[in-house]
Amino acid sequence: MEKNFRYVKRQTMEARKLNVAIVGGGISGLAAAAALLRKGVSVQVFERADTLGEVGAGIHMTPNSLRPLYAMGMEKALKSAGGDVSGKSEYCHMDGTVVSPILTHDSALNQTYGMHRADLLSILADQLPEGTVVTGHQCVGFEQTDEEATLHFANGQTANADLVIAADGIHSVLREFITEPTQPVHSGSVAFRGLMPLDRLDSWRDKAFLVWMGQRRHFMAFPVRGNTMLNYVAFVPTTEETAESWSAHGDPVALAAEFKGWDPRVEHLLSRVESCFWWGLYDREPLPSWTKGRLGLLGDAAHPMLPHLGQGANQGIEDGVALACFLAGKDRREAPQALRAYEEFRRERTAIVQLESRQNGRRYDSEYQDIRQRDEEIANSAKFRRWLYDYDVELEALEAARRA
Ligand SMILES: Cc1cc2nc3c(=O)[nH]c(=O)nc-3n(C[C@H](O)[C@H](O)[C@H](O)COP(=O)(O)OP(=O)(O)OC[C@H]3O[C@@H](n4cnc5c(N)ncnc54)[C@H](O)[C@@H]3O)c2cc1C
Repeated sequence: MEKNFRYVKRQTMEARKLNVAIVGGGISGLAAAAALLRKGVSVQVFERADTLGEVGAGIHMTPNSLRPLYAMGMEKALKSAGGDVSGKSEYCHMDGTVVSPILTHDSALNQTYGMHRADLLSILADQLPEGTVVTGHQCVGFEQTDEEATLHFANGQTANADLVIAADGIHSVLREFITEPTQPVHSGSVAFRGLMPLDRLDSWRDKAFLVWMGQRRHFMAFPVRGNTMLNYVAFVPTTEETAESWSAHGDPVALAAEFKGWDPRVEHLLSRVESCFWWGLYDREPLPSWTKGRLGLLGDAAHPMLPHLGQGANQGIEDGVALACFLAGKDRREAPQALRAYEEFRRERTAIVQLESRQNGRRYDSEYQDIRQRDEEIANSAKFRRWLYDYDVELEALEAARRA
């Protein structure tokens, strides 16, 4: 009798406590873990690398993702790691003549920040209790029943969970358990990226995000790491189809040659580059579906996008915050339906951002017959940015979850 009671009690507890496995310890996976834990959901993250880490590059963080991260207690750390771009941030022609200001805040004047990716990842990781992330676990297989999901790892181990969230990036292995394989779409460009100590540059304008737009090329730079380093990204055309998001060392001399004759600030910066990396740039068409039973997609696994709005990671963070709102208080039986409601809630916004990222790349690369029309669209782009930045994902998701 005593035994039975304990059994019933344990079952009741289990029915209440949802247990989620996240595959991928990148920015989206860790942000989702932090958001889920905050809502009382039990989480384990499985990362294939032996240690958590990020590439040496910057990322532009915008209020739509910073707002919920601040609410989770990361405001102080993020602001002190961030690069301040609240100065004269501008879109320019290749020769440096100004087209229009860049919006670097939302309507409530919350600022955007340049961020070193490694700083962001470590701030997110600091939110997670020890043992939340398990490294050295490359997911190679997945199966599910009505009751639970099972992950298989290359090291021979398995893990069971009520729900699996695939945050395993643009190459997601788990995506193919949900939709037919899709083809990556090659953008025709590669991105050269690097970081440079700001004191190596003579009279660089501080506290600004700057974008230069030329023919089939564009260049951007913003500070990171408390304005001690400058992140730069150079986008140039390529005829070669590189592996999706494949990266390698770039040649600084060849890179400088691509921007010869541009604004002296760009030429000066590139003359100081000693090493950089390049990325082949791909996205995919918006997927027809993100969930199947107890498996769901999040971040680049769900909506790989071109970086021309600087939203891939920002949208991945929004995903995690939204997911947590839909799963809060749900038990394992309700979980698949809550996952579908999360998908329903996120798909439209992320598809808009995916497609607008492509269009913004055409603007930056001056793919216009009449460049005055491009300049006008760039000048009016603050309206779309405001739509992006003013969005309060937690507020909207809680409301949608209440209705679902
Ligand atoms: C040039 C460039 C500039 C960019 N600039 C910006 C910007 O300014 N702002 C912005 O918001 N976004 C930007 N992005 C996009 C942003 O980098 C991505 O959208 C973001 O990093 C996606 O994060 P993620 O966690 O979803 O995926 P990833 O960063 O790819 O992380 C996936 C994680 O999963 C792990 N993993 C993969 N497969 C497995 C497996 N089978 N088992 C276990 N673990 C696995 C990986 O090791 C990795 O840790 C930029 C991208 C590029 C290329």
